[in-house]
Amino acid sequence: MASFFQRGDFVPAAPSLRVRSRGPRRPAPLSRLTRAARSLLDTSLFRLILVAIVVAAVSPDRVTQLVRAQTAPPQQAQAQAPAAPLPRVYLFATGGTISNKTGGRLTVDELIQSVPGLDRRVKAEGEQFLNVASGAITMEQWLALSRKINEKFKKDADLAGIVVTSGTDTLEELAYFLHLTVRDTRPVVVVGSMRNPSTTGYEGVANLEDAFVVAADPAAKDMGTLVVLNDEINSAREVTKTDARALDTFSSHDYGILGTVYDRVQILRKPVRRHSAKSEFDVEKIEALPRVDVILTYQGAPGDLIKAAVDNGAKGVVIAGAGAGAISGTQGEGMTYATEKGAFVVTTTRTGQGSIPGGRGASRRVGGDDLQPVKARILLMLALATTSEPADVQRMFREY
Ligand code: ASP
Repeated sequence: MASFFQRGDFVPAAPSLRVRSRGPRRPAPLSRLTRAARSLLDTSLFRLILVAIVVAAVSPDRVTQLVRAQTAPPQQAQAQAPAAPLPRVYLFATGGTISNKTGGRLTVDELIQSVPGLDRRVKAEGEQFLNVASGAITMEQWLALSRKINEKFKKDADLAGIVVTSGTDTLEELAYFLHLTVRDTRPVVVVGSMRNPSTTGYEGVANLEDAFVVAADPAAKDMGTLVVLNDEINSAREVTKTDARALDTFSSHDYGILGTVYDRVQILRKPVRRHSAKSEFDVEKIEALPRVDVILTYQGAPGDLIKAAVDNGAKGVVIAGAGAGAISGTQGEGMTYATEKGAFVVTTTRTGQGSIPGGRGASRRVGGDDLQPVKARILLMLALATTSEPADVQRMFREY
């Protein structure tokens, strides 16, 4: 039996019927009715109605649900699924070129307000911790900032991350200090700018926006403290300022960036060393950081600078040695003097890259691994605030 929906029913009439000598013949009334019924049967709507009738017979509730879902106005659908709240990010502003506007430094609120549309991406709040050049920040203030950040994370479980503005000159030092002492998996992002707000091409707003976006992104978790400038995400451990003026001054050299933040955060690799949540350095237990100095090796360098550092209270000295840690002049004598006085001597390289192997046993002479001299100083300060055991200090230089 032919089906109602058989396409062959609706092919044009046979040619013999179309070729007429006396013009078109009016179809008989019965024939028109039949054709109309057939075209109705062929429409999708009619088929749908038929299916609905069958389903309704089986499950009327389901049909009611379907009809409601199809006819609900869009506003009603939105009301049923409220938008997720924006991630919250807290800013500690410390100053630096990013806020150094002619006629007065930008405040933390002015910095937040300077980013157009920021309130559509994150909910930003903050406080003015300092408003100075990075080189003016003291070790006590570093400790205080780290305590504040730890406390903020502890008390504010819903906070996504923290941003810290800093001058770029010593930014990498503050960042590495926070990398080792903020004991939380959530990101701390340190940011600055090379041009000030009164300069053409000021890039501070773009860097700040990137910093907020990274701090808010769950992908940035468990990466320690991050340095974000120039659309690039670097590890606080690896990054260093490489150029006195250029906008793309921050580099992790051959290690490369951790990720980018163009229109979105893209993570390319993760730090493998111990940091942040896995760090043993508890700033609540550290009252003050011991003095540790950095001394450069150069041709004929006198060892008495090392002696002077120790005589003036240094508990450790970092040598920025030549090549693979070579010293010059009478520096060897100075190093022996230091260790005999109970001070630690950590050897690093002034070349900018490469690793100096660590020490063994009871020796207070330790290799600084691949840390920049100024970062080896930070690790040594924290190590000596925690232990005086050479084996412990050596282990720390292997782990962090
Ligand atoms: N002098 C500034 C500072 O470190 C430089 C900068 O922010 O880029 O505070």
